[in-house]
Amino acid sequence: MTHRRTQSRRQFLQATALLSAGLVAAPSVIVRGATQPGWTSNPFSLGIASGVPSSDGFVLWTRLIPDPSGVDPMVPGEIADDSVAVNYEIATDESMRNIVRRGIAAAEKTYAYSVHEVVHGLKPNRPYWYRFHSGDATSAIGCTRTAPRAGAALDRLKLSYFSCSHYETGYFSAYRHAARQAPDLAVFLGDYIYEYSDSRNPVVRHHARKSEARTLSQYRGRYTQYRLDPDLQAIHAACPALMIWDDHEVQNDYADKWSQTFDSPQDFLRRRAAAYQAFYEHMPLLPSQAPNGSAMQICHAFGDLLSVHLVDGRQYRSREACYGPPGKGHGHVETNSDCPERLDEARSMIGLQQETSLFNRLAASSTRWNLLAQDVMMAQLRQKTRTGEFGYWTDDWNGYPASRKRLLQHLHDSKTCNPVVISGDIHSFWTSDLKLDFDDTNSPTVASELVGTSVSSNGPPFEQFAGFLPDNPHIKFFESRKRGFVSLEIARKQMTARFKALADVTDRDSVISDLAVFAIEDGRAGAAKA
Ligand code: FE
Ligand code: CA
Repeated sequence: MTHRRTQSRRQFLQATALLSAGLVAAPSVIVRGATQPGWTSNPFSLGIASGVPSSDGFVLWTRLIPDPSGVDPMVPGEIADDSVAVNYEIATDESMRNIVRRGIAAAEKTYAYSVHEVVHGLKPNRPYWYRFHSGDATSAIGCTRTAPRAGAALDRLKLSYFSCSHYETGYFSAYRHAARQAPDLAVFLGDYIYEYSDSRNPVVRHHARKSEARTLSQYRGRYTQYRLDPDLQAIHAACPALMIWDDHEVQNDYADKWSQTFDSPQDFLRRRAAAYQAFYEHMPLLPSQAPNGSAMQICHAFGDLLSVHLVDGRQYRSREACYGPPGKGHGHVETNSDCPERLDEARSMIGLQQETSLFNRLAASSTRWNLLAQDVMMAQLRQKTRTGEFGYWTDDWNGYPASRKRLLQHLHDSKTCNPVVISGDIHSFWTSDLKLDFDDTNSPTVASELVGTSVSSNGPPFEQFAGFLPDNPHIKFFESRKRGFVSLEIARKQMTARFKALADVTDRDSVISDLAVFAIEDGRAGAAKA
């Protein structure tokens, strides 16, 4: 019997002893040939995370990588086995004294030695702390929490949401400031990494690889670099996360199998599969969400107070309206006379199947607030063109007005309770009334939209966009010159949104302050300055 097998047998015996003592649930994975090596460097250098909180558990994430600067992240340093055992502990106190659960998870080579351990059987609506051990190495301690039981009374929930963290254009101080507030939940709305490197703007730090990520190894390298950032690690260690993606996790402005650079759909789908796999490997997602992310369309309920409806805005969308010739596969501005295709009823932002499942979830929801967490701006934005006709951006909901109309009509008809849309992608703060008919100022407001600015990505030109506001009376606030995040406090009578703005994204120690505060009252759609 080899040393290795002796180790895994001992682990097995330990696990069996704990099982019979009722301390752990049976491991949900079979640990094949698992070893517990002695490490020469910290294999937990990418930190830890938790996500998908349920009323009795969550998923715990880490990824073993002893040599993050190695040329090929596929071959991480000292690891050679197909599967490495990682022990985890869950405690009810931050000093990890009162441990209520011990278990063994598997870090599998197929998924770059990442761990996605689903934990059940814990108490609802309370914080837990956790850490991992592998051989002689121990991870940092993370804080997470379980959700209240469905329907249970809940008075208050604090969540922060984020989008668009380009590593090169600024520091991730927004994540650090958000972590200090110890929210109950962090929601990531996409552009968590950027596949391309920034050649146009002055950068504060560089991607390790300048070329655009296209392969599994390159996407893994990008996530590895981002995940080494201490501020990013801090927000994940502070609370559980819910994740969706936008375009830059794969390629700018892609739509389903359509690349902005007109790659053949078969080639592009291969690239997309690699990108989706790397996304899964680095996020606290359920194993059932590996690797194509189709299970992202989930509704998460927090007691009787809040439902978070996650929407996938990229994987199922119709191709950009009026794309081409080459060079025009990405978002652009189109008028109705130049591009009647944009108005086509058959086109969908999220795919007709997802529209149906989202509509059903919204109709079935019985919580006080319904948050639609999705990637791109939903409010209509008329952009006056040189001819005087209005143009519309084709890559956000403005490119899919029939799909947007179906959603808003459904929110109206189903009397969904207090729908609030949160969005990213446009690197600027926006507060808007979502109108049943945007072209009629007397049309009812059916939902509120709060667009969070970017964590670090550069904003659109302020003067140009501010100039569009008089033609868009449903938009109440716009600011593109500040980076940061949004902190939401959800109570029974009111939701309060704080737009948190960094003083200087190029200063790692930047302070943050409230740029604007908006409140939405229970039973009345539309946010007002608080
Ligand atoms: Fe972005
Ligand atoms: Ca985007």
